[in-house]
Amino acid sequence: MQTHEISRRFLSYFTGHGHTQVPSASLILEDPTLLFVNAGMVQFKPYFLGDAPAPWPRATSVQKCVRTGDIDEVGKTTRHNTFFQMAGNFSFGDYFKAQAIEHAWTLLTDSQDSGGYGFAPDRLWATVYDDDDEAIGLWRKITGLPDERIQRRDGRDNYWDMGVPGPGGPCSEIYYDRGPEHGRDGGPVADEDRYLEVWNLVFMQDIRGEDSPKYGHKPIGTLPRKNIDTGMGIERVAALLQGVDNVYETDLIRPVIAKAEEMSGRRYGAGNPVDDVRFRVIADHARSGMMIIGDGVTPGNEARGYVLRRLLRRIVRSVRLLGVQEPVLAEFAAVVRDAMAPSYPELAADFPRIESIMRKEEETFLATLSSGSRIFDLAADKLVEDGGRTLPGDKAFQLHDTYGFPIDLTLEMAAERGLTVDETGFRELMAEQRARAKADAAARKTGHGDQSVYRDLLARGNTVFTGYDELASEARVIG
Ligand code: ATP
Ligand code: MG
Ligand code: MG
Ligand code: MG
Repeated sequence: MQTHEISRRFLSYFTGHGHTQVPSASLILEDPTLLFVNAGMVQFKPYFLGDAPAPWPRATSVQKCVRTGDIDEVGKTTRHNTFFQMAGNFSFGDYFKAQAIEHAWTLLTDSQDSGGYGFAPDRLWATVYDDDDEAIGLWRKITGLPDERIQRRDGRDNYWDMGVPGPGGPCSEIYYDRGPEHGRDGGPVADEDRYLEVWNLVFMQDIRGEDSPKYGHKPIGTLPRKNIDTGMGIERVAALLQGVDNVYETDLIRPVIAKAEEMSGRRYGAGNPVDDVRFRVIADHARSGMMIIGDGVTPGNEARGYVLRRLLRRIVRSVRLLGVQEPVLAEFAAVVRDAMAPSYPELAADFPRIESIMRKEEETFLATLSSGSRIFDLAADKLVEDGGRTLPGDKAFQLHDTYGFPIDLTLEMAAERGLTVDETGFRELMAEQRARAKADAAARKTGHGDQSVYRDLLARGNTVFTGYDELASEARVIG
């Protein structure tokens, strides 16, 4: 079943059950706590918080999402995209736990002929929050799931809240068992690669205080009107229904891998796991980069622009590590457009602008790379001549600091020549530089103009931005 059809069936099922279909919000919303929309519920936050009355009792959507926090998982796990589509059904003080479970179960297990996804019920597992006995009872009664396929998990996995006092509640997640060839027995608690999480149901029933039940505290009250917020990963369902190993091989993403194979002359899945990760990273990032530009972001050194820059540059680096030196982004963009435009026609309409932003960023980065590569080669030649095998930390730092040459590329290029890099030394120099910049800025009281200080603040968690860990750790790497 094609990705587009998976979305269509979701919306059709829920509109058929009294839900109003709401279009995806932009990835960029005026929300100071988020860099990018990362879940279907984000556009409905005011209704859940009680700041505005919900215009409908029930809603459904397929929301564009970006999760920068998952960037390091991309290509390594089978299930994490930076951009993905989250299908959801929402109840604003209307139906609650029993119906949410029933709807999810019905859509997942109804036969494909009758509009469902046709998953075999005996492959499905559910998790519940530690003390949510009510949910356990409902799973048994409504779905007939046997006890051994319902697992309890603690608050870190199965309690949801917004990180501040306000609404919260236990979750139930639904997992599909891909079979013993994908990992260990023992359910999702034992192995989240074999047991693939496809759908998360949040039962918003509590009022949490300063301390979250996530970390073992008791909620301070019960919501007068209980809500439902769910999220089903379209790409994950697609991977399962298309019988492929991972989300990167599904119909809308795989074509980029094919393009990269054609450009590089290397084959995906040919027994080189390192190359395979690169292929998957390229395909994932090409799509997320384009979707982010489509929603109005341009590459830059701060916040969203910085994430975008990181994604685009990572494609270029990965392609280069597959042996391609020429510009590639415009070609990938065309492939992504062709795959995605049926669902997102604005990508086709806006293509010239999107493509030119990608081209420009690539040109700038390639210039950086070529001067950095020359410096690297000289340093490596000298090292080998002197009989050394480890590139000193200060050289890696100079490459990074003076030439903007990313440390991961230094590591890769060193490895290709059988050399290592003194990474500890490099990190120490990075830390010293950060400390200096902070002191300087404090002295000048110009903290806001100084990027490194800005990122450092983020790293210390002084703001409620999400995804700064991400930004900050990358800032240490690319700066
Ligand atoms: P995981 O534990 O696998 O990282 P999650 O618990 O963080 O997933 P939720 O926040 O519950 O995910 O999001 C709801 C659904 O969205 C998930 O059940 C999954 O199907 C999908 N999803 C979440 N993150 C991603 C991602 N990075 N790429 C693709 N789909 C995702
Ligand atoms: Mg996650
Ligand atoms: Mg999870
Ligand atoms: Mg989840």
